[in-house]
Amino acid sequence: MALLTPTGKAGKLRSFRGDTKMPDKVDMEKIVSLCKRRGFVFPSSEIYGGLGSCWDYGPMGVELKRNIKNAWWRAIVQERNDVVGIETSIMMHPRVWKASGHVDSFADPLVECKSCHLRWRASELEDQKCPQCNGELTEPRMFNLMFKTFMGPVEEEASTVYLRPETAQGMFVNFENAVTTSRKKLPLGIAQMGKSFRNEITPGNFIFRTREFEHMELEYFVKPGTDEVWFDYWVKDRFAWYVNLGIREENLRLRQHEKDELAHYARNCYDIEYLFPMGWSELEGIANRGDYDLRQHTKFGNKDLSYYDAEANEHYVPYVIEPSAGVDRTLLAFLIDAYHEETVEKETRVVLRFHPSLAPMKVAVLPLSRNEKLTPLAKEVYNNLCPRFMTCYDDSQSIGRRYRRQDEIGTPYCVTIDFESLEDHQVTIRDRDSLAQIRVPIEQLEKTLESKLKGEPFEATPLWTTRQK
Ligand code: ATP
Repeated sequence: MALLTPTGKAGKLRSFRGDTKMPDKVDMEKIVSLCKRRGFVFPSSEIYGGLGSCWDYGPMGVELKRNIKNAWWRAIVQERNDVVGIETSIMMHPRVWKASGHVDSFADPLVECKSCHLRWRASELEDQKCPQCNGELTEPRMFNLMFKTFMGPVEEEASTVYLRPETAQGMFVNFENAVTTSRKKLPLGIAQMGKSFRNEITPGNFIFRTREFEHMELEYFVKPGTDEVWFDYWVKDRFAWYVNLGIREENLRLRQHEKDELAHYARNCYDIEYLFPMGWSELEGIANRGDYDLRQHTKFGNKDLSYYDAEANEHYVPYVIEPSAGVDRTLLAFLIDAYHEETVEKETRVVLRFHPSLAPMKVAVLPLSRNEKLTPLAKEVYNNLCPRFMTCYDDSQSIGRRYRRQDEIGTPYCVTIDFESLEDHQVTIRDRDSLAQIRVPIEQLEKTLESKLKGEPFEATPLWTTRQK
């Protein structure tokens, strides 16, 4: 199995299958508890005792998730002339899943305990006994991972539909629509983000593997023969996306699938893996799907999906390169990578060092106290900033505690309004990472924050004086 370095050079051959090395980093319980405490993620239907493997995103989580999706959309669609976006329905014609192979092969061999009836993945069991009650197990049976439901009022076989287990098929069945309406030539990508559903046998590790999750998928259609070059391109491009958004490179690696591990449609596949607390695990898969999908839909849909290449004056069925990532799993990786504990003034400070573009809140406006003289100016500052940045306002408890709260949600900048502000019309900006503070005139605040959020170093300039804490 070849490993690629981020620059694409083939690395040393090493087997990673079954690698369970426990990394020296934050454990998942700390992340789960921070997520609950600070409003990132809650158990679904919590007041009813929760629902297995379903989670709800709270006020901070929803912002973080949106920022991740925006960053992906920006890199994949907005900044490229060769990719268009699409949003297709979750329920599709049942024959789509026959054509894609999901009805017949999207299944896992499971064994069932004859006494407690729990089901287990046969490949994950060490001996032939039920891990729950030590009971006897059945022979393995295939169990389809797609959720079934019925369309219309009658629950019968003819009205069975599936909740999609991936968004990709929406792009394949709309290939012709996208090419015709965009008036673009190949290579052309179609991108989509949206919910997918899989009745996973072993969900777990918080939001790492759930039964309802969001996909971010790109199907990039290319001329056969150019597919390996594009495959390489997308592996590197996608790896760089995570690094550019702040994931430490030593926590990422590429792993090529073994021949016997490849999905039935894939000619080649790399996983981008992240060093999660439970060990290296898949973050995103990039597959060369060849012409499998378009040919299957041509066959099952009775519709020619070949492409006419005017320049070469030939018809061909394009090959597809597919980078496929999960929003929730990406969010978990960004959370874990951002999590830091450090000692400041003999106290432990928990800080999420998010890339500014991902941070749920960009700025917090904090009047030094709830004093009635400070409130009007602080509110004015807040009102001016919130149309421009996600801004929060907090005037409860001591300023130190409020700083800690902002650190725990990863807010890059805190703006403090004190009694001097009333005199000199200046405020203090505190930097989340260095804890340095600068003083700026209120009329320069928005511009200053904007440049800092774009990456301008945080240091005092001659215009402003650095204040000691
Ligand atoms: P895994 O084996 O880890 O469940 P997979 O190989 O089945 O993942 P793909 O079908 O390649 O996953 O889907 C692409 C991406 O979608 C994955 O890399 C992951 O980020 C995300 N994903 C897939 N299944 C789930 C799930 N059940 N929960 C959360 N994210 C998922």
